[in-house]
Amino acid sequence: MKAKEIIKNIIDDFDRSCAAVTSSEEWNEVRVRFLGKKSAVTALMKQLKEASPEEKKALGKAINDTKAYMERCLEEKKKEAGRDEQKKLPDWSLPGRGQIPGKVHPLTTVRCQMEDIFIRMGFDIKQGPEMETAWHCFDALNIPETHPSRDEQDTFYLNKKNMVLRTHTSPVQIRTMLEQKPPIYMIAPGRVYRNDVLDASHSPVFHQVEALAVDEKITFGDLKGVIYAFLTELFGPQVKTRFDNSFFPFTEPSAEVYMSCFCGGKGCSVCKGSGWLEIGGAGMVDPEVFRAVNIDPERWSGFAFGFGLERMAMLMYGVPDIRYFYENDLRMLKTI
Ligand SMILES: [Zn+2]
Repeated sequence: MKAKEIIKNIIDDFDRSCAAVTSSEEWNEVRVRFLGKKSAVTALMKQLKEASPEEKKALGKAINDTKAYMERCLEEKKKEAGRDEQKKLPDWSLPGRGQIPGKVHPLTTVRCQMEDIFIRMGFDIKQGPEMETAWHCFDALNIPETHPSRDEQDTFYLNKKNMVLRTHTSPVQIRTMLEQKPPIYMIAPGRVYRNDVLDASHSPVFHQVEALAVDEKITFGDLKGVIYAFLTELFGPQVKTRFDNSFFPFTEPSAEVYMSCFCGGKGCSVCKGSGWLEIGGAGMVDPEVFRAVNIDPERWSGFAFGFGLERMAMLMYGVPDIRYFYENDLRMLKTI
């Protein structure tokens, strides 16, 4: 076979082998096979010695060109394989994604802040069952059987008619007054249930923070003072309070509690232009409630109030929809 043909065969074989390379091991095998000491090209070089001077010149050039061609191809292949390999490897120079630490839910944060303020004012934190007897939830709180709030449309009754999911945290007042002699200063934060729709401002499950103070000579002035101290501590010294006439079966007199809006009274969408935000109900403990728990209303007086925890958190964080608290959407949880 003539040298020219041999070289052509070598190049064809090399091209096929080189194209099939997929790893650095295969690349090295091809390099050794075509350019190593035992390669066909090296064998051709040995033939050079026996060739005539003219043949030597032509064959020498052909061999050198072939070697240069193969080296070039192998170099290209190496770069290509390197690029592929790099794609498979992680890029260690990329910035890290970081860990997102967990955090306390906004409702829990506000509840803890409220608890802290009341503890500093000398109140205890009390808890009670979420499944309540109708007596603790209604009768003892002067809510008679004919009262509309006892209707099944408002209350979740459990299988027995005398057991309910508590509709407010007030039964914790009753339980505390039955267990403890006055003076009593307590708050009861907790979950409550109403047979209500779920919309931007209502939820069938929500949280209240209830407060009760029972002592000698407690007045409506004490009630106003404690609420004012609490709200200014929570929202800042600029907060003003307002009390409007109201009615609750378990307090007499009763009041709706308002605080000045963050717009400073100018009127905005949160306060619907009024400058005031309704935040809860309050009043002096009705003597009937004291009688139900065997506390002498002639000697003891007291006040009670209840605020919605969600309402507080909505005002504090500017959350427009109560449902956001229960959806656990990370976009909201991260920003609060
Ligand atoms: Zn406003």
